Amino acid sequence: MTLAHRLFAGSALIVVVFVALLVLLSGVRLNHELRALETQRLAREARLVAAMWAGAPDAEAFATTAGTTLGHRVTLIDSTGRVVGDSRFDLAGLEHLENHATRPEVVEARRSGMGSALRTSPSRGDEELYVAVRAGARTARVSMSTRELSDVTASAQRDVLISGAVGLVVALLLSLAFARRVSRPIVELRDVARALAQGDLTRRPALAAAGEVGDLGNAVHRMAEQLAARMMALQHEEGVLAAVIESLHEGIVAVDADRRVVRLNRSARELLRLDRALPFAADLLPRNSGLRDALTAALGGHAGEREEIVVDGRILALTARPLGSGGAVLALFDLTETRRLESVRRDFVANASHELKTPLTVIGGYAETLVTDELPAEQRVQFVQTIRANAERMRRIVDDLLDLSRIESGGWTPHAVSVDVAALAADVLATAAAAALARGLRLTTAIDPDARTVRADPTALRQVLTNLVDNAVRYTPPDGTVTVFTETAPTGSWLAVRDSGIGIAPEHLPRIFERFYRVDRGRSRDEGGTGLGLAIVRHLAEAHGGRVEIQSEIGSGTVVRAFFPASPVTTL
Ligand code: ADP
Repeated sequence: MTLAHRLFAGSALIVVVFVALLVLLSGVRLNHELRALETQRLAREARLVAAMWAGAPDAEAFATTAGTTLGHRVTLIDSTGRVVGDSRFDLAGLEHLENHATRPEVVEARRSGMGSALRTSPSRGDEELYVAVRAGARTARVSMSTRELSDVTASAQRDVLISGAVGLVVALLLSLAFARRVSRPIVELRDVARALAQGDLTRRPALAAAGEVGDLGNAVHRMAEQLAARMMALQHEEGVLAAVIESLHEGIVAVDADRRVVRLNRSARELLRLDRALPFAADLLPRNSGLRDALTAALGGHAGEREEIVVDGRILALTARPLGSGGAVLALFDLTETRRLESVRRDFVANASHELKTPLTVIGGYAETLVTDELPAEQRVQFVQTIRANAERMRRIVDDLLDLSRIESGGWTPHAVSVDVAALAADVLATAAAAALARGLRLTTAIDPDARTVRADPTALRQVLTNLVDNAVRYTPPDGTVTVFTETAPTGSWLAVRDSGIGIAPEHLPRIFERFYRVDRGRSRDEGGTGLGLAIVRHLAEAHGGRVEIQSEIGSGTVVRAFFPASPVTTL
């Protein structure tokens, strides 16, 4: 039921009750007033009849004349209560009338001079109004039927009812119009409030209504303005917060009190390999006991210590903290690379120590023998040469390590210039010529006419080529060929060395550029290798913004390429 209907029904009920009351009250009152008036009139007539009765010889004839003249029933009663004349009965009729001495109006009139009564007439059967007055010892009575009075009352009531009905219709129409007028702005306010509650902050009430409804409209208007302003501020803050969280290197996962993930930044998505739309149940997070226990503890209000978990092969540092609102936030930091570097560093120290320990042991052993034993001069010379060879090996290892650490630490930056590759290759091959000749190898060059020069640091480029040529010569059996060649690429040039040597098994290729990684440790050592040559090549190429590649096949040979960009980017 709408407000307009309720207002209308309320006012209609009031009008109906009011009209009904009016009809009822007016009827009762009119009846009462009419009776009082008629009683007075009948009393006056009775007194007149009483006065004239004294001079009338025939009571019955007088009663008939008086009754006809007045238009009312006239009854004359003697001192004993016997009816001696009645306008309604003839003489014969009078015989049958009972004694009237006990009639209430007669008793009253005898006592106080006048009496009246309202009752059903035993002779006519309808209701009559009787008024009696004393006339000496006798009593004169005038009476009339009340039907006339009732007719007057009924007609008056009918008039009141008709005017009441007209009034009712008018009042109902007015109340309908009033209800519509009052309810319209309230209904509009309700619609606006509903829209605001549903998030449509652009809706405003029309500020046309007057009085309290107008005040309410104003208040809703101000409320909407404030709500919109606060919402804007909140959205702005939310935007800033989201941008900050999104840009964090740490992964952030926020879970609400109902165990639903409500926020997840880009880093967390990558670390946990999640691409679900928010929000989603926390049970859909990776099945990792450390992560789940920390989340449960934080949701229970306990801040956990930082711990390490492994998710999908990645080592993550996890911190779980409870949120004030009953949720929890998880912070994740990727430690995989840190841990890998730590392990590389540990391996490196172990490898370097091991590499240095072998020649050191040899030197120590031979030196001790030289000091203590009596040896023939020939053998002494041989021992000293072994000591020198091992010392030289240690020097090479230390030199290579120093080179590597210099490149890695950023203490060295390449100064790139255009280097003439043909000249450089001739130089490097000339240095390797003696070793190649001893092994019966052919050294050739194949310079691409479009890549006669390479943009690189000349010293670094010479070291790259020397290492590659040394390896090629070292691992190629007699009668083989070693070729230095260049290739062009859209963004720079490749400097490469191809050999027809022993090749490398595919399983070694992914790690061949690591420090101290060697396919055959004994052979490398015998050939004077340090296990650092290719690592240095890779680092030098990368220091120029380039990279290295290797292709190899057991028994057929190896190609190692180093790429140098035309406009070198210093990555250190
Ligand atoms: P090394 O000083 O031992 O040569 P490198 O870092 O230069 O160390 O090379 C690493 C390993 O790669 C070598 O021990 C060798 O087993 C392998 N290797 C390098 N170049 C070649 C090649 N041209 N042919 C075959 N094996 C090679």
